Parts: sequence; C-alpha cells; structure tokens
Amino acid sequence: MWLDVAVSAPAHSQVGGLLTYNTDLPAQVGQLVRVPFGKREVLGVVWRVHAQAPSHLAQSAVKRVTAILDGVSPLSSHWLQLVQFTAQYYQRSLGEVAMAALPPQLRDLTPEQLARRLKKRSASEETIKAALESPWPLSAQQSQVLSQMAAAPGPFLIHGATGSGKTEVYLQAVAQCLAEDPDAQALMMVPEINLTPQLEARVKARFGEEGVVSMHSGMTGPQRLKSWLAAHKGSARIVLGTRMAIFASMPRLKWLVVDEEHDASYKQQEGARYSARDLAIYRARLEGAKVILGSATPSLESWHQSRPAEEGGRYLRLQMPSRIGAGQLPFVRRVDMNHQPRKTVLSAPLIAAIQARVAKGEQSMLLLNRRGYAPVLHCSDCGWKSECAHCSAFRVFHKIDRTLRCHHCGFTQRVPRACPTCGNADIAPMGRGTEQLEEHLAELLVDVKRPDGEAVKVMRIDADSTKLKGALEAQLAGVHSGEVDVLVGTQMIAKGHDFRRITLVAAINPDGALFSSDFRAPERLFALLMQAGGRAGRDAAQSASSEMWVQTFHPAHPLFEALKKHDYPSFAAQQLKERLEAGLPPSSFQALVRCDARQQAVAQAFLNHANAQLQQMAQDDVTFANMLNEVSVFPAVPMSIQRVANVERAQMLLESTSRSSLHKVLDVLQTCLHEGRSQPEHKGLIRWLVDVDPLAI
Ligand code: ADP
Ligand code: ZN
Ligand code: ZN
Repeated sequence: MWLDVAVSAPAHSQVGGLLTYNTDLPAQVGQLVRVPFGKREVLGVVWRVHAQAPSHLAQSAVKRVTAILDGVSPLSSHWLQLVQFTAQYYQRSLGEVAMAALPPQLRDLTPEQLARRLKKRSASEETIKAALESPWPLSAQQSQVLSQMAAAPGPFLIHGATGSGKTEVYLQAVAQCLAEDPDAQALMMVPEINLTPQLEARVKARFGEEGVVSMHSGMTGPQRLKSWLAAHKGSARIVLGTRMAIFASMPRLKWLVVDEEHDASYKQQEGARYSARDLAIYRARLEGAKVILGSATPSLESWHQSRPAEEGGRYLRLQMPSRIGAGQLPFVRRVDMNHQPRKTVLSAPLIAAIQARVAKGEQSMLLLNRRGYAPVLHCSDCGWKSECAHCSAFRVFHKIDRTLRCHHCGFTQRVPRACPTCGNADIAPMGRGTEQLEEHLAELLVDVKRPDGEAVKVMRIDADSTKLKGALEAQLAGVHSGEVDVLVGTQMIAKGHDFRRITLVAAINPDGALFSSDFRAPERLFALLMQAGGRAGRDAAQSASSEMWVQTFHPAHPLFEALKKHDYPSFAAQQLKERLEAGLPPSSFQALVRCDARQQAVAQAFLNHANAQLQQMAQDDVTFANMLNEVSVFPAVPMSIQRVANVERAQMLLESTSRSSLHKVLDVLQTCLHEGRSQPEHKGLIRWLVDVDPLAI
C-alpha cells in the first residue's frame, strides 16, 4: 500500500507537504503515522491511500512507514478538508498547517504511551441537562434570539451591547444542542483566554469540569495533549479556546461560538496567517454545524455579511440592544483638549470626576494605549532621540528599571546619564505612557481618602506589569475585590472583564487613530472605546451614573459623535460607505506579500521582479491576462516600520474584487517568487511570506 503523508516541511521548501511512503500494515486516511524524514523520524497524517504504486516515483526511492499510531482513531475527513482549505487559502504547505494544528506532544509519544493516555473520562448527562437551567429567567431579548437561532440555519451574527447577556445566550444555545444529542460537541472561541478567566470558570461551573476542556497557548504540552485527546475521542463536550482551537479534532461538532468576533487576535500572525473567525464559518458549513459570531462592535466584514439577505447578506443579524436588568450604557463626555492648557495630561474636570468617584468608593479606569514611561527620550540641546540601533523606531523609556527598551526587537540598555552625542545631562522624556500616567495619578490623589479612610490605590495593568505568571490574575483580583481605586492600563483592560464596581472609564489620548494611514484604525478605535465604555456601570444599580470620558482635540469627529450615542450601526454605515467608495475591504479582497532582506532595495526588487514576471506571463496567456486584469498589483514599498532587528522589510499589496482571481494570481506569484529567490541580484534576501486578508497594511 502507498500512502501520501502530510509531514511538517518548512514553508518554502519544494516538498509542499505530502510525501509518499510504503507500508504493508493496514492504514486508513486520517491516521497518524511515524515516518522517516531526512535523518529524523517524524509524525505525519495519512492524506491519501493508493493500492497501486505511484507511477511518477521510482519504487526504490519510496521509504517505509515506521509505525501506525492505531491507538488514536483517524482524523475525520472534515478535519482533513479544513486543513487543506487553510493551506490553500492562506498559501502555506499542507504539511505545515496539518502539523501546526496538532498538539506538539503527539509527535513525541510512542503508541504505548498514547494508549495509556486514552483513558475514559466523560461529562455526565445530568450535568449537561442541569446546564439548561439558567440561573435567572432569560430576558425577552435573550429568549427571542434563542428562538430565532433555533429556527434558522445561520451563520448568526449577534450584535449585542456589552452586558446584554450574549454569553448567557451562547451557553443556552450550546446546552440545548448538547442535551438533545448525547454525542454532540461545541466549540467556544474567545480572543485571549488569559484575559477572561471568568468565562472559563463560568463555562466549567455550568457544564461541569469533566466535559469542558481548554485549548490555548498558555497551556503546557501535556495539558494540551490531554485536551486534544479528550476532544478527539468525544469525551469533551465543549472545547473552550483561543484561535488555535479552530483546528481541534471534534468528530461531532455541532455548534461553534466566536465571542468578540471583531478581535484582531483571531488572526494568526505567523506561519499560516489564518483567521479563526473566517475558518469558523467555513468549518460550520463543512460540518453541518451552527455558528454564532458575537460582538458589541462587529468587524465591518461581518457586519457587511449580515446585511439583509435581499442585498446579498449571508449571515442572519440578531440584535440585543439593551443591557440586562435595565442597566444603562455610560454617559459619554468629550473633553475638548483645545481648551486645556498646553501639555495637559489629565484635564481638570476629569481629575475632579476621578477624585469624586474615589471619595464615593467607586472605581475608575483610565485607558492609554502606550506602555512604558515615555515613548522617547530627547536631548533639547542637540536633538538626540532614543532611537533603536537596530530598528527604524524609538526606544521607549521605562522609568521603573531606568531602561530604554525597543518594543520591536527587544534591545534594552540602561538610560544614559547624559546625552550620548553632546554630553548634556538634561535629557528628558517626550510624550507619555502608562507608567507616567500611574505616577501622575498617584500624585493627584494623595489628599483624597476612600470612604473607609484608607489611602487611594492606583494600579497599572499592561504587558509589563503582567509578565510574570499569575501576575495578571492577581492584579485582576485586586480590581474585583475593590482594593484598587483607579486602574490604568492599555487595551488589555478594556476587553471582556466583568468588573462590577467601575463607574468611570476615560480614554486619555485616543486621537492618533483618527488620522492613521491604516484604513482599519478608526474601526479598531471605535471598538476599543465601546469595549472600554462597556466596563463601566456593569452593575445595573450604578449604571445610571456611569460615565465614559474621552479627551480629544477633535470632539466633533463623527466617530465620537457615534460613540456618544453608542450607535455602532451609524458608525458602521459611515465607515462602510467610505470603504465601498474607496474600493477597500469588504468591497474588495486583499493580500500582502512581505519580504525581508538585508537591504531595502533587495527586498523591493525581489517583489517587483515577481510582479514583472506576472505581467510577462500575461502577454503569452490570454486566460491568465484576463485574470490578472482583475487584480491590482501595487509596486513594492517599505513597511511602515521599515527596519526591525537589522532586517529591512518591504511589502507588495494585491487587491481585487474577485476572490478567485486574487487566489489564482497568488498561486502563480508564489512560483515566480520561488524562481526569483536564486537570482544573483537578490542576494541578501532572507524570507518572504503571504498574508491573505491582512488586518494591517
Ligand atoms: P455580555 O456577554 O453580553 O457582556 P453577559 O452574558 O456576560 O453579557 O451578561 C452580563 C451580566 O448579566 C452577567 O453578569 C450575567 O451573569 C448577567 N445575566 C445574564 N443574563 C441574565 C438574565 N437573564 N438575568 C439576570 N442576569 C443575567
Ligand atoms: Zn545632546
Ligand atoms: Zn529595535
């Protein structure tokens, strides 16, 4: 018997991912095997089985399968199809995608060890039945959405205000499905599980520890393997995970939930740059399962897909506009920073408002999307700035350990005592980050007392404060318990948390995104601010007095007008109109080809050369010419941060209103890129990659 086996091959090797092996053992499609590969022995997945020897291979060149891991049942044809689609769509090799989708520990296990691990463990039917009981009577809105979903095939987009009870809807939908079918499984995806330990606790409390497994990158190898096997066997009824969970092997997958579907972390940023949200739609159709995307601020792509069916919409849009328990959304106040003294960090009215909240024993949350103390150190005598020696970026001043750190390459040095160029001792921070805001606030609040007479506590949560394992959990616990009065942080604090005591949220300096060159920046800002605002007044008793403050130099900007009214639909309509007029997604499809090289000129030349070849091919081939005609291939340009860790980066954008033409051109382009890599004028080329449906350009 001859087997085509998917093995992990480096992205751009000629191997492509499927290799042929020979065996006398009974083998089935989808089975895990161990095969020789180069000097090593690796894990592979049987993709195809042939009774006849493949004619194009010399018999003697075909190696033999080392072992078949028959302790694990074969992966389903749906799973194989999902992987195949991902590889094709995102332009990577099949083997690479297949192997990245399996837990790494599987590779190192012997069949005996595997068999031992496959002990039975299952959720009890009683627990699943009990999960149907919601702790409260469902709201009218929740019941309505649930019955709409029962009556239609989906996909569903739930547009629900923060705190409208979406999570409860997901849990109910899943509980119903699992109770009806004792074999059914459900997949719930969240953007970053570490940020929302509450959700995990809530799901486990509802469905029982036994039937729920997690899948995310924070788990150890053995933990991931255990979860994977439980899902694969069907004993786990629910998989709760981050984007990687989209590849969980689940033989009876019937429901998929993508919570906070707009979140950028659903897009993988290395290897195959897949969107787990988009794959969820694909996988649901493949498996005949239902899928919910949910968000208070859906991505414009999903919003567009959920327009009325008469206009071409393919998702069913379900609305949950009101908060549970008559809770209100925070009142939005804009502070016009044009009327504040120059260099104001916190405006006087905002300071007074925070002080008043603290004195009443309420919490405030301040959002500043920049960590560190100051983004740049600067010498006023000679103009020196704390540039990174290896990147085209400034190093950030961190006062806590008196370092200058590059946030792109990690290059870190102690802060110099004096200016490195002119010796001036007076070098000063420019701009501000979360560290400085924390320090500043503590000073402003020294004289304020909490109702219990204790001193005010300010806490900062960002990537720096949460580096150590368990630090974030400890910090969040401090917020939940009420020990903390003012929370300062980056977007990390805006997402998902069910804070019960926060009544004031403030965005300190959000203007940057209004005029960014990235066309998605306003969409991201709006989502962030709505999310952040959603952290205020989650306790219905307090919601009427809750506020969201925005400090801005552009108070009349339509984005803030829409924010004030909590009006996502009008914001989306206005953005979509602009995008459609400009021919940007979702009215077109994009792909980026990125190239890294020692010199910028080489990176660009490499991309432009491949483009020239495309145009050349079109001259001899009318069919291809027609296809290429539908795709705009833009000249290569330097990336916005051109150099990182001494590597020069360039990119080339492809855009088309036809997804299929774009993909066919990409396929041909890959061949051109492969050919170009050995050209002598491309010496210094390091790597290239394709990003389909890129999130940032
Ligand atoms: P969302 O996911 O839309 O932000 P959640 O489902 O987390 O909303 O619900 C917000 C809060 O309301 C949670 O604390 C939840 O426990 C509570 N809740 C949800 N549904 C109900 C209900 N029907 N009755 C009372 N409280 C509810
Ligand atoms: Zn100087
Ligand atoms: Zn750097």
